[in-house]
Amino acid sequence: MLSTTFALGLKNHLISAKLPPKECFKQKPYYGRYYGRKENFMKSAGTVDLMDRVARTDKTFELVDGHWLGKCLICNGRLSFRTSDGFGANIEHIYPRVLGGTDALENLALTHPGCNGEKGRNWDKPSKRRVPERNLAYLEMVKRFQERRQERWRDPEI
Ligand SMILES: [Zn+2]
Repeated sequence: MLSTTFALGLKNHLISAKLPPKECFKQKPYYGRYYGRKENFMKSAGTVDLMDRVARTDKTFELVDGHWLGKCLICNGRLSFRTSDGFGANIEHIYPRVLGGTDALENLALTHPGCNGEKGRNWDKPSKRRVPERNLAYLEMVKRFQERRQERWRDPEI
């Protein structure tokens, strides 16, 4: 059984050692592989439709000239994407699919493709050395994003 002090120390250690500062996500330009490779950024009609539904339930988003303008859930930076094909943003599963996260709207958010990729590659994916379910810093981060999604929640118009 871990003592509270030890557990807290460990938690802080994990947070300081492993959690990239918010600024790492912020302002990071996205030079991803997706640009220039059409097949990678073409989204299915189902995905585009889902992005639209997520934007409608996020009060930072508004519809302007065929674009949704709002904020990235991860870095809080400005985010916009085309309504026609979803270009400019990705769907983020806050509690990731690899750990059993669902497609429920509350579990989905819109993010920069770069932010989404960072989280997916470096945090969500279990590996030999990484067990996300047991990583306190990781769980804390997921919780923060869940709370942020809740704060921004808006009921969709029916
Ligand atoms: Zn972002």
